[in-house]
Amino acid sequence: MTVRDALRDGVAALGGSGTPFLDASLLLGKALGLDAAALFAAGPDDLDPGSGAAYRALLAERSSGIPVAYLLGEKEFWGRRFRVDRRVLVPRPETETLVAAVLEACGDRPSLRVHEACCGSACVALSLAAERPRWELSASDLSEEALELARENAELLLPTDRPGGPCRFVRSDLLASVEGTFDLVAANPPYIPSGELAGLGIELRFEPRLALDGGADGLELYRRLVPQARSALAPGGWIFLEADGSQAGALRAIVEEAGFAEVSTLADLAGIERITRGRLPWKT
Ligand code: GLN
Repeated sequence: MTVRDALRDGVAALGGSGTPFLDASLLLGKALGLDAAALFAAGPDDLDPGSGAAYRALLAERSSGIPVAYLLGEKEFWGRRFRVDRRVLVPRPETETLVAAVLEACGDRPSLRVHEACCGSACVALSLAAERPRWELSASDLSEEALELARENAELLLPTDRPGGPCRFVRSDLLASVEGTFDLVAANPPYIPSGELAGLGIELRFEPRLALDGGADGLELYRRLVPQARSALAPGGWIFLEADGSQAGALRAIVEEAGFAEVSTLADLAGIERITRGRLPWKT
């Protein structure tokens, strides 16, 4: 069997996955230790039995619903490869809008104290840290095992001589145990209403429930986080929050009620109202 035949069989086997060609290519590349370009160049070659067996095992796992990112052990986010496994939510493309929104609003600031709450893999904090080497970054999560992985990603992705210093990590329920004053707080908290979780895609069953379950209406954590952020931010400080488009209006109300001004929601690339931001007044 050639590499190309194996790819064709894999696409057929994953017919139900939504993106069978992409998934099968990534898994075959993983089994062969090849990137996409090398994989397609190897199309006419014979598939060795060891790689064939590894590939079939990966296909079977994928068919059971395990996200591709967990099988690969990594996920690309904002142009960098983050290590991911079952300890954290797989970074989503829509969360790149959170990074884009922060850079658009504050990207020209030479220094900024930024905290990411509910950081998971820390894809947001570490992307900002990598893009803006002088900014001071910190990140928190309730899950100790998520923080372990976030620290691994920091080691992997940030230079040790970063002018703004290393990204600081702290275990915390939202901002309860986070010390310090910030110019910007960003978060992608769990926001799926508890009652909707069971009806969503099979892949979500393999991800940490803690990273997805947002309580009755999905906004429970925001009701605690937004007032905490208000206290932790300096005058003129920003908050940037990801949520689902259906929650944008209710979330803007929570942010306004906490005393933030200039409250608005930005759409992601799919046109879904995704990132709600607000800013504290300079004088209160
Ligand atoms: N956007 C994710 C999803 O729909 C949810 C992420 C979250 O709850 N923070 O799968």
